[in-house]
Amino acid sequence: MSIQIIGAGLAGLAAACALTERGEHVVLHEAAKAAGGRARSYFDPQLNCRIDNGNHLLLSGNRATMAFLSRIGMRDSLAGPATPVFPFVDLESGAHWKLRMNAGRLPWWIFSASMRVPGTRLRDYFSLLKLRSAGADDLVENLVGNIGPLYRNLLEPLAVSALNTPPEIASALPLAAVLAETIERGGAATIPRFPKIGLSESFVDPALAWLTARGADIRLGSRVAEIDPAQKTILAAPPWIAAELVPGLIAPDEFEAICNLHFKCRIDPGGAGFWGFVGGTAEWAFAKGDILSVTVSAANRYNDVENAVLAAKVWADLAAAFALPPEIPEHRVVREKRATFAATPAQLARRPKTRTAHKNLMLAGDWTDTGLPATIEGAIRSGNAAALAFLADK
Ligand SMILES: Cc1cc2nc3c(=O)[nH]c(=O)nc-3n(C[C@H](O)[C@H](O)[C@H](O)COP(=O)(O)OP(=O)(O)OC[C@H]3O[C@@H](n4cnc5c(N)ncnc54)[C@H](O)[C@@H]3O)c2cc1C
Repeated sequence: MSIQIIGAGLAGLAAACALTERGEHVVLHEAAKAAGGRARSYFDPQLNCRIDNGNHLLLSGNRATMAFLSRIGMRDSLAGPATPVFPFVDLESGAHWKLRMNAGRLPWWIFSASMRVPGTRLRDYFSLLKLRSAGADDLVENLVGNIGPLYRNLLEPLAVSALNTPPEIASALPLAAVLAETIERGGAATIPRFPKIGLSESFVDPALAWLTARGADIRLGSRVAEIDPAQKTILAAPPWIAAELVPGLIAPDEFEAICNLHFKCRIDPGGAGFWGFVGGTAEWAFAKGDILSVTVSAANRYNDVENAVLAAKVWADLAAAFALPPEIPEHRVVREKRATFAATPAQLARRPKTRTAHKNLMLAGDWTDTGLPATIEGAIRSGNAAALAFLADK
């Protein structure tokens, strides 16, 4: 009997690949005309090129993501620096600096003033250990907000982008989980990675081709309106859809936006191809050929700000950071209103487990209880977990 998967985002695709590899037949339903969900690429007629709906930054320590890419033969499709280096621009002071970690597990980089975050002292880094004992109600800012420049220059931008939630309301637990799997495992697990071409080219199209070649039944433009209890199903749709399809399901119901601003502008990508920002509106910029692409996370605060106003604000920061002309080039603002659930303690408590009360229904998606924030890594792990749950029940 086939296993039905609802949603061809990365959770659904990961579940489909894991099951197909183990010889199961899957029918993958995707409501949209294209797969990929919140991580997809498309042709933008205004910019006359393909863009991603949003920049996605991964780290080499995202083990499920790397295994997924290896499975579909796309491990080499990611770009980024060869070493764990993060170039930053401080938009208030104008300073450019780099965080450079050593590869090994022992973090000797924190002993070197030239490698660590500017303005930080060795002892500041020991304050990060507080995150290890974070409890369910601890908020990022309350727990580590008082550690000076290490917070402002590293932890705050990291928390905003990893959790997509303002640090004054964000839970410290998922941030601790990210750090435990990356920075705490050493530089080799913290090398920045992003698609060389695009999200669909790395993750989505090759996964669909891999599945098709192995007999999976992929149905794009197929919106599932009802779940058949007699049919084994993995529900990998976003939480607001899952809550409609499964009466009584408790799932996250508060969300944070992410805005991506894609400017037609070619700049020297430097050694890394991206920059982190502190003291400005955006968190990251990526130089991708003719496009300079900028991410503004935890962006509910800009929901009422017009695109033109936001673009002017962000461009002013870019112009200052990279000595660019003040005139805003051709650009596109992409707002994902429900980019991720808000990673507050109350919302984390609403994340359901993979298994449901119905033996034929498993849940997957970045919003399920993965322990990680809503990320590609969390989505892929959730898909793997749902597949494994069915395989274990056989
Ligand atoms: C702008 C932006 C930037 C991001 N940046 C990062 C980043 O830097 N790093 C990172 O790791 N993560 C990032 N993320 C998060 C990451 O994209 C998500 O965690 C991940 O893509 C979620 O995958 P998913 O499969 O759980 O859900 P989704 O991608 O939402 O997939 C669910 C799928 O279900 C489909 N669907 C819905 N209803 C139905 C139905 N009734 N029948 C059939 N199909 C249905 C949808 O169309 C969708 O394709 C970002 C997200 C956004 C939006």
